[in-house]
Amino acid sequence: SEGKGVLEVTNSATEEIIATIPDGTTGDVDKAVAAAKAAFEGWSALPSEKRAEYLMKIHAGLEARTQEIAEAVAREVGMPVGMATMIQVGLPKGNFAITAGLLGTYKFEEEIGNSIVVREPFGVVGCISPWNYPLHQIALKVAPALAAGNTVVVKPSEVAPINAFILAEIVHDAGLPPGVFNLVTGVGPVVGEAIAAHPDVDMVSFTGSTRAGKRVAEVASQNVKKVSLELGGKSPNVILDDLDDEGFTKAVAAGVGKCFLNSGQTCTALTRMLVPRARLAQAEQIAAAAASKFTVGDPFDPASRLGPLVSAVQRDRVRGFIQTGIDEGATLVTGGTASPEGLTAGFFVQPTIFSNTKPSMRIVKEEIFGPVLAVQYFDGEDEAVQMANDTIYGLAAGVFTSDGSRAQRVIRRLRAGITWINTYHPTFNEAPWGGYKQSGIGRELGTYGYDAYTEVKQINTCIRPQPLGWFKSLSKK
Ligand code: NDP
Repeated sequence: SEGKGVLEVTNSATEEIIATIPDGTTGDVDKAVAAAKAAFEGWSALPSEKRAEYLMKIHAGLEARTQEIAEAVAREVGMPVGMATMIQVGLPKGNFAITAGLLGTYKFEEEIGNSIVVREPFGVVGCISPWNYPLHQIALKVAPALAAGNTVVVKPSEVAPINAFILAEIVHDAGLPPGVFNLVTGVGPVVGEAIAAHPDVDMVSFTGSTRAGKRVAEVASQNVKKVSLELGGKSPNVILDDLDDEGFTKAVAAGVGKCFLNSGQTCTALTRMLVPRARLAQAEQIAAAAASKFTVGDPFDPASRLGPLVSAVQRDRVRGFIQTGIDEGATLVTGGTASPEGLTAGFFVQPTIFSNTKPSMRIVKEEIFGPVLAVQYFDGEDEAVQMANDTIYGLAAGVFTSDGSRAQRVIRRLRAGITWINTYHPTFNEAPWGGYKQSGIGRELGTYGYDAYTEVKQINTCIRPQPLGWFKSLSKK
């Protein structure tokens, strides 16, 4: 950085400072963008097989440093290290390989009428990412952006940036030409906004809160920059009335898990559980029993299923929401505002479940981003759907039912981009990722990732002119 300032990175389980990173400046962004711009022509002109080779080298680098990255993320974010190895390293590693593989089959060119339609890279792509699945969120942007021929300027979250530095080393070791990949650390309102505003950044891809996403879109609109937004959620989990006791128990217990993964710091967490009114008490019992199995503790202790939250700010925010739920009159089934027993240091929060919650309550309406589940009751399928959709968000949704056709009917009525029927298995393949409503604009992953990071051009030639009759028949219509 041209600046002298530093930002501290904290171990979320011990509260110790484990690293400092440059507090980047707008001047740093200017330099990075200039480097990316200069590298664009050469990078985009490479044969796509060559870019695929580079992506596979990055994949191999991630593979070789799996343990180191998993441990770094376990310290920064707090996810238990075993899970972090699978998810926090497994996903980005897989994404580089999947994206490289698709380069062979993705249709960069097609014919429509007498036009050739080609997909071309934007140029310089600014990638602004959050801390919850930090490397995964970077890879979701960087892999398809580079594969499609763009160059990138990455701004990771200041809260969990160490993994991004490891990625930068891997990219360097993979021998990518200078300027193709650039990393600038710093705070969002300075570095993030400078990227969003920069006239030489052709597209900005943002993942984070709806609040910051709106600001990025506002800043980027000044030069009509292309914008992709992956934002927050308050996702419903509808458990219908036709399940027998065994099915209902499985659905509620699985739903608790789907809310608590990564201590609730998951954009697609199903944080609102909707159950039939007659089964509310049963749901409370099952959910409390399921929550008691989420042992909270040191991310490096194999017995821990939940680590701490990422930061003091996040812990205080989540505890504030728990207090709000109590004040709003929701029934506290388990958990609360106190630290989990025996955990005096670290940003730990008790897994918490509220029942008897009402649509007007803040804990039902707002994204909490912690291990806090709100159980709501409904009367009938129509009310369940209405309540599920009663949110400004539309990222994810789940349905549990024993009736296959009902499942299909209900899931299609839910206004969300990522959905599950009778399962919450992680969906990570090539299917599109993104949300309806205020959960974002655009989709990432697989071929949808290529679509997101390419401009579309029609090329018209006079080699194959349309017969005049075509125009005549069109004008008659
Ligand atoms: P934030 O919105 O706080 O931050 C995300 C990124 O944006 C960070 O790099 C941050 O920088 C930066 N930033 C903050 N303010 C600005 C600004 N004014 N201009 C430009 N950049 C800015 O989100 P969190 O990191 O707290 O992540 C949690 C949020 O992300 C949740 O709402 C979650 O739902 C959402 N999310 C959505 C996903 C999806 O796929 N839809 C996936 C994962 C998370 P810094 O932190 O350094 O200040």
